[in-house]
Amino acid sequence: MDVKEELKNNNFKFKQKFGQNFITDTNLLSAIVKDAEIKKDDCVLEIGPGAGTLTKEILSASNGKVVAIEIDKDLESMLNKKFSSHKNFELVMGDVLKISPKELKEKFGGKPFKVVANLPYYISTPILFYLLENDFSVQSITVMLQLELAKRLTAQKNTKDYGALTILLDYLGEVCLTRKVPRTLFTPQPNVDSAIVRIDLTKKKFDIEYSKLAPFVKKSFAMRRKTLVNNLVAGYEFSREKVERSLNECGFSKNCRAEDLTSKDFIDLYKSLFK
Ligand code: SAM
Repeated sequence: MDVKEELKNNNFKFKQKFGQNFITDTNLLSAIVKDAEIKKDDCVLEIGPGAGTLTKEILSASNGKVVAIEIDKDLESMLNKKFSSHKNFELVMGDVLKISPKELKEKFGGKPFKVVANLPYYISTPILFYLLENDFSVQSITVMLQLELAKRLTAQKNTKDYGALTILLDYLGEVCLTRKVPRTLFTPQPNVDSAIVRIDLTKKKFDIEYSKLAPFVKKSFAMRRKTLVNNLVAGYEFSREKVERSLNECGFSKNCRAEDLTSKDFIDLYKSLFK
């Protein structure tokens, strides 16, 4: 039975407030799992299983623990009926952003896990920050995103899409847009195109912590049209001369903007300013 028919038989009504655009194309479902490179013993977290079509693909790729978190109670019995025979599967009903990191870690017995999901677009960015900024052992995140956000995550410096999120992701790992996805492959059809993005958390070794770099980068981009000096003087209690001196030390002009710097440049500038 195809997913549209199944949902109709269950009298399911799509809810826009939960960002419900379900995948109807079976090739796309296997492409997501292929891009995630799920191995037989991998633990996997899926956010928003919907009607469970992607969940089914994940469960055929892995025998490891698979946890799916779904907010919509109307999907609970359908999901339980489909997957109750899979002993490695656990359905958690609730808002992913309200699940404590401790509870989520315990679901996987502290083991590392991969994230695979067609994310609800209204909260994709907060979900990415939830996964990146908590102390989980996330190995990789392979997710369907709105194309516009996918472009921001993978942008090159000096482009309009390049921003704080691009730099922080580059600091944390490697990001790759694996494929663009037309809106016609979803039901109901969204009014934007999408893309699959894979983020590998490579645990690069830097001598500055993420919790220090993140606010620095966010403040540097606070007002995109302002120079970096103006943003940093407004965001910290630095004198203009001090910021200009540090920029000069790092090889940048006093008129440069945040978008002129790579993640490595931000680390150098941070060290120069806070030494
Ligand atoms: N995985 C399904 C698919 O690909 O067809 C559905 C994807 S749909 C884009 C997003 C899913 O996330 C929906 O099932 C929606 O109910 C669920 N969702 C929305 N907000 C959520 C939240 N805060 N926590 C958990 N699930 C959420």
